[in-house]
Amino acid sequence: MAFPERGCGRRGGQNGGHLFRSCHQGPSCDDGDTVNETCDACAYPLQRHEAFRVLGEGTFCGRCWAQRLSLETRTDVGHLEVAPVVLEDSDGNERQFHFMYNPRTPSLSMFELDDEHHEVGFKFRVYASAGEDGAALVGRLLAKARAALASPQLQPSGASRYTYAFRGDVVQGWVRCDLAATRERGESVPRISIDGHDFSWEEFGRMLMEHEGWPFRLLFLGDE
Ligand SMILES: [Zn+2]
Repeated sequence: MAFPERGCGRRGGQNGGHLFRSCHQGPSCDDGDTVNETCDACAYPLQRHEAFRVLGEGTFCGRCWAQRLSLETRTDVGHLEVAPVVLEDSDGNERQFHFMYNPRTPSLSMFELDDEHHEVGFKFRVYASAGEDGAALVGRLLAKARAALASPQLQPSGASRYTYAFRGDVVQGWVRCDLAATRERGESVPRISIDGHDFSWEEFGRMLMEHEGWPFRLLFLGDE
């Protein structure tokens, strides 16, 4: 399978036309803690991380979502299923990664899950290039993951207020929903994942205080 060239914006809110309307994978703070969903097209039972929620259309498995997009766009957007893999982090811990292909962007993600199938820890994503085949895309994603796993950004802090400190002046991670805190407080609460470690908003704030008085730049890596 070779991925077609796509003209859609890759970031939410910039997609313009109806073909690529709002869609996201997995639960978010806006959904609440949804469970036990099935695909609206084929009735296949879906784990949290497998569900594509499409505004105004419903919830779909990856295969049905790809079929719908292919029909709408009259282009074979492709579908890719990759079995989980186990990789070692820099501390020698084995970590299991699951994969999800999103035909809308198109991109392939690999991520860790907790026992309730919430995303936790490491997550990596690459975007497909026009003409790239599935095996090459998987290879590129695995290379990105292995490189990141071998280059930790955090180190033990030695401080009592927080467990980890940044190794350098640049740190890269993911903003996720803290579902437990969101339920408890009744408002969206972020959780920050760096190097496979998940930090509450408060703990991340304490880590930032190591740089109290510094200016900073916040850059979201939508196309990384
Ligand atoms: Zn389906």
